[in-house]
Amino acid sequence: MSYTTALHGGATDDILKSLHKQFTIDDQTLFKITTTFLSEISEGLSNYGRAMAMIPTFVKGVPDGSETGTFLALDLGGTNLRVCEVTLQGDQTFSLRQQKYKVSETLKTGEVTTLFDYLADSVDAFLTESSTPSKEPSSLIGSDPYAAVNQDTPYLPLALTFSFPVEQSALDSGVLLTWTKGFSAKNAVGKDVVKLLQDAFDRKHIHVKCVALVNDTVGALLSRAYTSGGCILGAIFGTGTNGAYVEEVSKITKLGDSAAAAAGGEMIVNTEWGAFNNSRSALPTTPYDNKVDRESINPRFQAFEKFISGMYLGEIARNVILSLIDAAPKPILFGGRSSDQLNKQWGLDTALLSEIEEAWEGLGQFSLAPGSVEVTEVEKLRRIQGVLAKRLELSPPDISLADADIVRQACTLIASRAARLSATAVAAILVHTGRARLWDQGEQSSAGLKDEGKRIGVGVDGSLVEFYPNFQTKLRASLRMLIGPEVESRVDIGMAKDGSGVGAALCALVAQRQSQAART
Ligand code: BGC
Ligand code: MG
Repeated sequence: MSYTTALHGGATDDILKSLHKQFTIDDQTLFKITTTFLSEISEGLSNYGRAMAMIPTFVKGVPDGSETGTFLALDLGGTNLRVCEVTLQGDQTFSLRQQKYKVSETLKTGEVTTLFDYLADSVDAFLTESSTPSKEPSSLIGSDPYAAVNQDTPYLPLALTFSFPVEQSALDSGVLLTWTKGFSAKNAVGKDVVKLLQDAFDRKHIHVKCVALVNDTVGALLSRAYTSGGCILGAIFGTGTNGAYVEEVSKITKLGDSAAAAAGGEMIVNTEWGAFNNSRSALPTTPYDNKVDRESINPRFQAFEKFISGMYLGEIARNVILSLIDAAPKPILFGGRSSDQLNKQWGLDTALLSEIEEAWEGLGQFSLAPGSVEVTEVEKLRRIQGVLAKRLELSPPDISLADADIVRQACTLIASRAARLSATAVAAILVHTGRARLWDQGEQSSAGLKDEGKRIGVGVDGSLVEFYPNFQTKLRASLRMLIGPEVESRVDIGMAKDGSGVGAALCALVAQRQSQAART
């Protein structure tokens, strides 16, 4: 028996057991969720207006690393607004200059024109504050895309990475279907976001033209393809979650007999899997999840995202912790005391969960110097006490070692569930595209699968997969369970570094080529 098991007794043990039971998803359920995923993918490919929107992006084909050019990119949808200038070197590398800007709650929830005015102003500030793009020797004309574009028009080309569900009608137009992740700016849903941005530039006489619109998942896919020579899925596990993959146009049957359908070939589809199973028929919901959903800005939407992404994990943990503080007849945590921070909605950041896990696992700031002695469990729990006292503004005497251990277990449960569920999304895409088989009927052979024996490139980005201890390890373990070790071992998951910027630049390049082709 470990020291920590000895910390708890009677009632606490029962509550911990019940938490384990509620947050642990068994393998059979994981298979069932993946199967439901597969049918919602098919539904979305054949119908418009489904929760999981399966959006055709009009991005055809994937880069190979030989692309060159300099582009502006504007990235909205994560924690910060970013403006960057990306130069694709053509040898799978790039250079990037960027500036981050804060997006206040007022901007997120106010009038949409105010938000887009702010976006335009940020681009303007970036262009004025930083050295403007090279207007140097004429030898550069032709290789410098600014110069090339400037011959036709006095505008700089910019790609917008807009990480919300947008029903695209072309590479450079699409209407917002719904806001997610705490944004709710008014009079935006149903509007063309490229037009909203362009109008803001024009109002302010800023000589920038928005030539392409791209979701961050598409950016991740493109940038991973550019730097690694091949990628079939781009996925974000950050503030929100979503994935985009390369699909055969013939399978996007809702395109009907449109020109896009007639062109055939492949096209990147933005799944918007954050909205998977909004009915929650397959997702094992707890009362804590229901409360988070009910109090969110978009109740009954983005169900899958609310189990997985960084915006919500802290809030789920906060609700679990509060229920333990409030437990009757005897409080289970902190002697029944809470803090202002804990009482406040969104008061507990997912970064705190990852810090607690780092303290326990000896990772990050808690990493051991090589050769040092193993830290005892008591010492690890003392670290967690320290983290809780500081971040939650609890009084140290109120936090027992047992409390630290209970909070730690709750965080691990919530994050492990997120990682396991994330695997169902990846597995579903691999099965749907014919690269894997589900092992729910026992072991399956890999014979005849698409890309048999080959590397399967997956580009990922977002705070959870980048920083949360063991997130990727747990995702992979569940993926292996779902599709078997042979295919899983060929899945090459890599960070899509600066995906939003580089992917946007690649999209701007595609847009430029298409418009040049149209003119000749
Ligand atoms: C949005 C997606 C986005 C994802 C990750 C979700 O809330 O709906 O469009 O890709 O977050 O940023
Ligand atoms: Mg982002």
